[in-house]
Amino acid sequence: MKQSYEMVIGLEVHVELGTKTKIFCGCSTEFGAEPNTHICPICLGFPGTMPVLNKEVVTLAIKAGLATDCSIQNMGKQDRKNYFYPDLPKAYQISQFNKPLCYDGHIDINTSDGAKTIRIERIHIEEDAGKLIHSESDGSMIDFNRGGVALIEIVSKPDMRSAEDAVAYAKKLRSTLIYAGVSDCDMSKGHMRCDVNLSIRKKGEQKLGVRVEMKNINSFNFVQKAIEYEFNRQIKTIEKGDRVIQETRRYDSDKNKTYSMRSKENAQDYRYFPDPDLAPIHISDKIIDKYKNTLPELPDNRKKKYIQKYKISDFNAEQIVENKSTADYFESAVNAGGDPVIISNLIVGEIFALISKEKSQEEIKIKPDRLSTVSEKIKDDIISNSMAKKILSMLWENDGDVDEIIEKNDMKQITDRDKLTKYIKTALDSSKDAINEYKNGKDKALQSIIGRVMRDTKGKASPQKTNELLLELIKNY
Ligand code: ZN
Ligand code: MN
Repeated sequence: MKQSYEMVIGLEVHVELGTKTKIFCGCSTEFGAEPNTHICPICLGFPGTMPVLNKEVVTLAIKAGLATDCSIQNMGKQDRKNYFYPDLPKAYQISQFNKPLCYDGHIDINTSDGAKTIRIERIHIEEDAGKLIHSESDGSMIDFNRGGVALIEIVSKPDMRSAEDAVAYAKKLRSTLIYAGVSDCDMSKGHMRCDVNLSIRKKGEQKLGVRVEMKNINSFNFVQKAIEYEFNRQIKTIEKGDRVIQETRRYDSDKNKTYSMRSKENAQDYRYFPDPDLAPIHISDKIIDKYKNTLPELPDNRKKKYIQKYKISDFNAEQIVENKSTADYFESAVNAGGDPVIISNLIVGEIFALISKEKSQEEIKIKPDRLSTVSEKIKDDIISNSMAKKILSMLWENDGDVDEIIEKNDMKQITDRDKLTKYIKTALDSSKDAINEYKNGKDKALQSIIGRVMRDTKGKASPQKTNELLLELIKNY
């Protein structure tokens, strides 16, 4: 049953721009302030006040557009989107209707089905609304600090066909905007919020089904779950002989369900019209070129560079560029003189493990030059990978000199041929069964002999040298 349907997904993503002040007034955008302390007559929509567009908003929106390969509008305008809700004191939101600042872009993603391109229909600028706070003791309250904070809304085409596609797109969009310096996209602070539009149809059909919108989903995990839930709900609805209705639904992450909020309004319901208080936005080609030429390096370019210049694996490169802070860290470690391939393996292996163990978000508590030194010690065969792992978790706790740590904890590998021969011979003398198995074609039998050498040397025998030497010595047994 489920296999005969496909889902069609489009995302509308709201991102708070990293400007110091709001879009039409000088109020601070700082997060976490006492409610209603960053407000003024303009962002409260008092009659007679006049908005003045913050130039930085246009700059950052252009950068967002260029980073996603959009065309930029030379002549933009701003429109009033009329609706009544308590968090919007003017009863209209200043947004953009038919002349978005950026249009016709795309984001490339990698999925288990291979590479895909998700088209971006438009990116427009608009103001955020206030925040409603509902409490049982005090009733409903409004904090207007967020009202008038600058947003871009990024609208994709309905090009996604699975929850995996949608999450990959949202993640790639987020990292692209962070690289471009447009926003920190901190989802825990609501700086990036996803609205998911989802409809279903029988596979092979061209006509789009009736879409349902799920608003303000603030984590990738919830995007995934909301899509899976809604896909099943719509299939059940249709199989029962009912129709899916066009509506806005709320995703409840505690119950992992979606609930109907209201039937979805159409564009004409908003009675859009140009805001007479705001002048048109002129953007010359010269300005566009200027930003194009100063746009920071984006994740796809960095990935390509890491693979070509540093010869690191496709997998490692993909993992490292996902977060700009990780990519910057990788580059610092490489620039300190370490081995790029080993550094990339240590980051994707040990460092990621340490991060997830500590749940410390993205902060890496080891100085990049220390990691660089560790990579050199591995390359020069002074320490083994398992010792490197120990050293890194020590450095994570307390910074220290790598050479001193190796010295003090006696972590140097044993690579000396005579010393290793002694250990291997001892192991071989007590491994008659394993030797026989090996001679009967079971290569795996060597593992127990190597294990014995490792135990006797407290893990210090060089795995590579031990292996080589063992293959040589076993011939005489
Ligand atoms: Zn204000
Ligand atoms: Mn919007």
